[in-house]
Order: sequence, then structure tokens, then C-alpha cells
Amino acid sequence: MLSNDCIFCKIIKGEIPSTKVYEDDKMLVFKDIEPKARVHLLAVAKTHFKLLEEANAEGRGLVDYMLFKIPEIARQNGCENGYRLIINQGADAGQTVFHLHIHILGGKELPW
Ligand code: 5GP
Ligand code: ZN
Repeated sequence: MLSNDCIFCKIIKGEIPSTKVYEDDKMLVFKDIEPKARVHLLAVAKTHFKLLEEANAEGRGLVDYMLFKIPEIARQNGCENGYRLIINQGADAGQTVFHLHIHILGGKELPW
């Protein structure tokens, strides 16, 4: 289920443009609009939920599926030497979009 007032759901529905690098029936990966690294992608499941703790069985399966798919997607998009995954959860983490997403950061050695 997608939401009507969520930026990432609108991107999934094509109502907001994005630079897509991978898409299938379960997930979409697109370039972050404000990259924090040479390569900065966002992986989102095609189901709206805000936080890991809100994921039902389907949502948990989608997180698992994304983690399974990300290595090849990262490698094909300039992260041959490694990458970092970040999932911000809530206000203290600075989460700004409340549709669970996995940041994929890489392209050169990252400062910790
Ligand atoms: P958060 O801080 O919630 O973990 O990350 C949200 C990310 O979404 C940020 O890195 C921000 O730059 C990105 N973002 C916000 N709005 C848009 C948008 O409309 N398009 C794209 N491609 N990225 C967005
Ligand atoms: Zn959403």
C-alpha cells in the first residue's frame, strides 16, 4: 500500500520525478537529490511504512529482499570498492522522510 502524502510514495508512483537506477515489482532505487557522498542512492520498498518497528511480515520480507538485492545494485552504480548502508530511524537520527529507506553511500573511501 502506498500513501497519498508521502514524497517517496509519489516518487514510486511517478508523480514526482527521480533518477531511477533500479526498479522491480518490490523496490525502487533512485539517486538522492542532495548527495552526501560521490554515490548516494536511496532504496525504498513499494509499500509505505515509516519505521522498522512498524514493519509487518510483508515489510520485513521487503527489507530482507532489499538487502539481498543491494550488493549488485551498488556494484553496478560505482561502489565496486565498498559502500555504507544507513537506515535513519526517527528524530534523533535526523530522519526527514517517513517512508522506510536504505541510504547507499560510496564511490570513494568514506570518512567514518
Ligand atoms: P532521511 O534523512 O529521512 O534518512 O533521508 C531522506 C533523504 O531523502 C535525504 O537524503 C534527502 O536528500 C532525500 N530526498 C528528500 N526529498 C527528495 C526528493 O524529492 N527526491 C530525491 N531524489 N531525494 C529526496
Ligand atoms: Zn511512502
